[in-house]
Amino acid sequence: MNKADSERLSSALNQMGLVSTESKEAADIVVLNTCVVRQNAEDKAVGTLTSLKPSKELNPEKVIALMGCMVGPNTSALEKRFPYVDVFMAPQQYNPLIEYLGEKLKIDTDGCIGPLTAAPAISTYIPIIHGCDKFCSFCIIPYRRGREKSRSVQEIVHETEMLVKRGVKEVTLLGQNVDSYGHDLEGAINLSNLLVAVNEVSGLERIRFLTSHPNDMEDSIIEAVNGLEKVCEHINLPFQAGDDEILRTMRRGYTNEEYRRLIDKIRNRVSGVSVSTDLIVGFCGETEEQFANTLEMIKDVKFDKVHSAAYSTREGTIASRKMIDDVEEDIKKERLKIINDEQEKIVAGINSNLKGKTQDILVEGRKKGKWFGRNRNDKLVFLDSDNVNAGDMINVKIKETSPWYLEGSMSNDIRK
Ligand code: SF4
Repeated sequence: MNKADSERLSSALNQMGLVSTESKEAADIVVLNTCVVRQNAEDKAVGTLTSLKPSKELNPEKVIALMGCMVGPNTSALEKRFPYVDVFMAPQQYNPLIEYLGEKLKIDTDGCIGPLTAAPAISTYIPIIHGCDKFCSFCIIPYRRGREKSRSVQEIVHETEMLVKRGVKEVTLLGQNVDSYGHDLEGAINLSNLLVAVNEVSGLERIRFLTSHPNDMEDSIIEAVNGLEKVCEHINLPFQAGDDEILRTMRRGYTNEEYRRLIDKIRNRVSGVSVSTDLIVGFCGETEEQFANTLEMIKDVKFDKVHSAAYSTREGTIASRKMIDDVEEDIKKERLKIINDEQEKIVAGINSNLKGKTQDILVEGRKKGKWFGRNRNDKLVFLDSDNVNAGDMINVKIKETSPWYLEGSMSNDIRK
């Protein structure tokens, strides 16, 4: 979501005639878009912000803007702590910087913030719903990004059409809880209706969506993944913990059994689907036995990818007010390592089954001196050929696999 917000602001700054530069020290304007979902993300943001202070002292005309989840509704504590920051902006609130620059540089800023218009990547994010109404006990997002607010189907389709005209081949529809899309709109609209509408955009090759919540994954959404040609067979469905008591204290609203049943339903309905998940180890009060239930979930479900994190208290959340962060840090680290080691073995096995198979790849760009793209299951694939371009749809025969990526050769024609 932050990447999408940054792209949007960057597009507005381009429209004002500003261009990007590589070095934050040399830049006249620095925007730091922050994440505070975990303590280490916040520490990193503070470190970067502190490192900007000397260049601001050398050049007081330099503009420093702080954006994203670090900026809550009340900025007075931040203003005191970082007096050299010129502008504070909550997530998706671009106007304070646009207006500040408009005044300072005497530029007309009318219409700068709108749909994404800067030259985007082959695969681009489109936020479709902002905020979250769930209030999981560990999570800061509803406090920083506010309540759910969906954009209209027409607006999203229009933005997709504009992006396709500028070369975009794949869009990822984003929401903190993307499955909740449309619940606040008039009429009985949900994510499946939007997927149907975006699927109609000609020239678009692929559609993905992130991140789902098990309780809002309606059958119609699963049917859309199954039935719509452009919607890729990949679902990110966080389970967060495998133990029912921990799930209850996390306020997730489902049980281990219900989650497993949902995974079975998705796999039965959508052939060849890949499923990734998010989980937290070391949540308040998590015992060895409770952690074992999370590990068991990993072993049984065999996810294609696991985004794991050690719990850290976020000030202002329900957990910070009502629970005790009592699992020691080295135990959290140990549990994280157990999960990651197990998952590495699982995904090595899943990926090795792809050896010798031909995959449909959308070429996205170059990394480490090689062309890369993704298959429909969201697996990263490196190519051994230089004879392609970003945006090509190609068939690739997989030659080598690892837990993190696949490697292969182009097996026949390029579909532009
Ligand atoms: S559903 Fe996701 S974004 Fe919303 S509160 Fe829970 S963890 Fe946070």
